[in-house]
Amino acid sequence: MSQQNRHIPTRTCVVCRTKRQRDELLRLVKTSKGQILFDSTGRMDGRGAYVCADADHWGEGIDRGRLKNALKATIEDSTLRSLNEAMDLPNNE
Ligand SMILES: [Zn+2]
Repeated sequence: MSQQNRHIPTRTCVVCRTKRQRDELLRLVKTSKGQILFDSTGRMDGRGAYVCADADHWGEGIDRGRLKNALKATIEDSTLRSLNEAMDLPNNE
């Protein structure tokens, strides 16, 4: 039995700057076409940004400026909406 002392990768949330384990963060990626997508596999090509999986980071609470800086992309309402849908977070209407 091999017991490797596995190094757990950490990433920094671009919204609150908290370091967390990678599986506690959601990865967003900007594709070569400039589309912002929720990367559920964590392996998509493009510029990535990590955000906590906390619901209060999303929707109206999200800091678009930081997300924009991290991804070098404009964050549209429609982008946020489709991200929220992709992540299946409860909607606060
Ligand atoms: Zn965060």
